[in-house]
Amino acid sequence: MTEYKCFSCNKEIKDQYIKKKVRCIYCGAKIIFKARTTPTKVKAR
Ligand SMILES: [Zn+2]
Repeated sequence: MTEYKCFSCNKEIKDQYIKKKVRCIYCGAKIIFKARTTPTKVKAR
């Protein structure tokens, strides 16, 4: 599961909220970046 953070208010936003529209649910900012919740690993399929 990927989690994102708002660039403006720095709150965590779960990806289920930004499936339809990429926007912060707290402050309405459109700038969101991926939060590193897991160690940097590349999964091979
Ligand atoms: Zn925000």
